[in-house]
Amino acid sequence: MRMDTVIMGGGLSGLTCGIALAKRGKRVAIVASGQSTMLFNGGSMELLGNIDGKTVTAPLEAIATLPKDHPYSKIGADRIAGLAARAKLMLSDSGINMEGDVAANHWRITPMGVAKPAWLTLNDHLRINDLNQLPAKRVALMCIRGFFDQPNSMLAQGLRDLGFEVNAIEFTTDDITALRRSPSEMRATSLAKRLVSHNALQRLADQVNSLAGDADMVLLPSVFGQNNADDFQTLQSMVNKPLRLVATLPPSVAGMRMMTQLRHYFRMLGGNYLMGDSAVSGTFEGDRLTAVTTAKLGDMPLRADHFVLATGSFISRGLVADYERVYEPVLGVDVNADSDPNRWTQFGVLQPQAYSRFGVATDERLRCLKQGKPIVNLHAVGSILSGHDAVKMGDGTGVSLLTALAAIDDIIKSE
Ligand SMILES: Cc1cc2nc3c(=O)[nH]c(=O)nc-3n(C[C@H](O)[C@H](O)[C@H](O)COP(=O)(O)OP(=O)(O)OC[C@H]3O[C@@H](n4cnc5c(N)ncnc54)[C@H](O)[C@@H]3O)c2cc1C
Repeated sequence: MRMDTVIMGGGLSGLTCGIALAKRGKRVAIVASGQSTMLFNGGSMELLGNIDGKTVTAPLEAIATLPKDHPYSKIGADRIAGLAARAKLMLSDSGINMEGDVAANHWRITPMGVAKPAWLTLNDHLRINDLNQLPAKRVALMCIRGFFDQPNSMLAQGLRDLGFEVNAIEFTTDDITALRRSPSEMRATSLAKRLVSHNALQRLADQVNSLAGDADMVLLPSVFGQNNADDFQTLQSMVNKPLRLVATLPPSVAGMRMMTQLRHYFRMLGGNYLMGDSAVSGTFEGDRLTAVTTAKLGDMPLRADHFVLATGSFISRGLVADYERVYEPVLGVDVNADSDPNRWTQFGVLQPQAYSRFGVATDERLRCLKQGKPIVNLHAVGSILSGHDAVKMGDGTGVSLLTALAAIDDIIKSE
């Protein structure tokens, strides 16, 4: 099978590449083996949240100070604002409406009630632009009885610590109670499937309206709209106060919805999304990759002019570690990792971990290196790249979106 570009990995970075190319009329296939880390996403995108343990308020200024091995430095600090604007537009073209300013982080609220810096947050989720000017004084925190995925007392305390007056109100409806017959069903994703009909939303809205008292704003867990934001809009039209959603523990409904919307948009543009298939090996001729073999297509390899490696970090098996080394399992491209396994981790979950900055080695144009030399038609994008740290630096989604767009610019320029 021949394509213009084959992308390995169908998470945020792979889909961003796929959409950008399909929009330009290119024939693109994405080989996508499984779920992506967007399952952990609480409804926000981060550009850069922390450097050396210090909170970043002005990400563009901070990006200019990053070391030269950081993916943003490779792209060039002066290109970040332009790429970020294109990424936001691509999200909104996919039906993902988010608010935020690339020059000034706002605050998102984690399921534990902690405020974390963010670049973009879904319009229907709680976003705080200025911690000294909260968007509401009194909030009704609507807590679903028996719900697993939101630690209500921690969330309520976290919101109080930020300065909200919080009235935490436990409630249920007949639709939710039906799920409780099997306790394992009380997860965010099950509720999102249940709370879709007009009647189910109306019953929920009736409860909220009768219990919310004098609150200025109602907060509900993010359990609405697996496929689009319409269920929230319907609910908001039924609730007689401003309504905002708060992130739940994973798997996240908002993250799944964003992935569904991106996949849908990619397919609508004519892209081929090979769901449930895996890239297993590649064929190289000199400094070029010519074909990728997949588990399902077997002896019909995918041939293309360009390839993109977007298979993610350790959690998605884009990188693999055994007792002695860290390697990239599909193409065997070079990896930047400490050769001494004793230095990969350090004790303490809150400590920075060296392994989280490991990733594939690229040149300045994000082209993968193999035995130190660039493979001229193979770019790497997203969390498989070395030199950044989604957990400690809060740069994961930004790196995924922006490196994907930068790599596509390079591919187009090279044609
Ligand atoms: C626990 C956790 C929590 C996070 N929370 C947040 C957050 O709250 N906010 C935020 O902004 N960012 C967060 N991030 C970071 C952000 O989610 C990621 O940086 C970003 O989504 C990574 O996208 P990606 O496409 O590069 O990689 P991934 O999401 O890892 O996607 C890679 C995809 O490639 C597939 N794949 C792997 N190998 C193959 C193969 N051989 N063939 C085909 N497909 C393959 C995988 O199945 C996966 O679907 C979090 C990350 C983690 C790990």
